Amino acid sequence: MAIGLQLENEKQLLKQYYAGQRMESPNDGFLILLGVRAGQGGSAVALLECSASSLRYEITIPKATRTERKKVKDALEAGEDPDCPRHGPGHRLVRAGKDLVCTDCGVAYAKV
Ligand SMILES: [Zn+2]
Repeated sequence: MAIGLQLENEKQLLKQYYAGQRMESPNDGFLILLGVRAGQGGSAVALLECSASSLRYEITIPKATRTERKKVKDALEAGEDPDCPRHGPGHRLVRAGKDLVCTDCGVAYAKV
């Protein structure tokens, strides 16, 4: 069940999201991240609130791709602490149950 409105430019917003940039709201203002929750099939959903209208939006954060999983697996096998393939260096993946997840994406990139 969706609790937020959908956004039309999800792809562009996701890029800004991963880069830690300010995300512009469709109704002036910008989007404030309220939280990330698990979605379906390994994806996640970010809940955002518009700073001007207080309308709430959701964007789906796609599940890890095969390439991203491999990158993380390679780092693990090399004995490194993998970073989030989307957020980049400095965003360490953390252990959540049997998964290695990025707390900003809410996406699991590897099994541990
Ligand atoms: Zn991330």
